Amino acid sequence: MDADLLDAFLEESLLFPKSKLEAFLASYLGLRPASQVTIPAELPYGTEMGQRIDEAVKPHLAKLQAIADPRVRAAAVQAMKKMLEDRFEEIVEGSDAYKSYYRWSEELGLRNNQIKVRPTVHELYIFKEKSTGGWIRKLMADRGNIRKKTQRKPGPNVDPIRFAYPEEFNEKWLLRNGEVLGYPECCVRSYARDRINGVNVEARASRQLVETLKEKEVDTHVYFTGFFFPCSPHCENALSKGHDWADAFTGLDPRLTGLYESILQMNTELVLRQPELIQKYLSQFKKG
Ligand SMILES: [Zn+2]
Repeated sequence: MDADLLDAFLEESLLFPKSKLEAFLASYLGLRPASQVTIPAELPYGTEMGQRIDEAVKPHLAKLQAIADPRVRAAAVQAMKKMLEDRFEEIVEGSDAYKSYYRWSEELGLRNNQIKVRPTVHELYIFKEKSTGGWIRKLMADRGNIRKKTQRKPGPNVDPIRFAYPEEFNEKWLLRNGEVLGYPECCVRSYARDRINGVNVEARASRQLVETLKEKEVDTHVYFTGFFFPCSPHCENALSKGHDWADAFTGLDPRLTGLYESILQMNTELVLRQPELIQKYLSQFKKG
């Protein structure tokens, strides 16, 4: 990579350092087929953007809940969706942070695919090879079909999480998703098995780490990217990925060595904190 371009990239304040390495450079260097950024949550000022959208629709939401007639209510729900999409366009897609993700993709010769998951939650895939784009599109279409099927016929064991994210309980889909994101197969299999058996993966990963840390230090390279849960803190495949990534980053520029180490540390701490983060997430569902 051109030295001036790399300097400018590393100085960019509108990208999180974590995104620079895990989302952009890992795809650029071919360390993973694609990376995924959740928008706006993972953008700088993403939390504030989400809050601004909530504030803007709050008065309308209260009115919506007061409508008793189901037909009037259904129409109001549609109008609400549209309103959320418009606010997303204005607040998120209009932001400098959002634009910088696209600008840097272009500067680095990377491709994008943005998927609307909900009116105000999008996933941005960043990848290098054209063929990966087709792969992602197929994966997303399959996810849509899995959701449609579950939501049409939920079955007896479908809790709110399984209803909203049924693909998270589908081993075949998870394996393909894991492959696109460059996760080791053993870790994805173990993730899928746990999810299907009702084991909380994030809590399991946190527990494994706590137990291991009681006896010895953990090589943080096993948490080579965020929101990834290795089958164990000693997984050879995840460790080797982490070391490959570290070597490739250092090979690109020695300044990246320390930066990646700090990100690995952050990923490890996030796994440790998972149980408390999950509680926070689940409380949204309880609110209704
Ligand atoms: Zn593994």
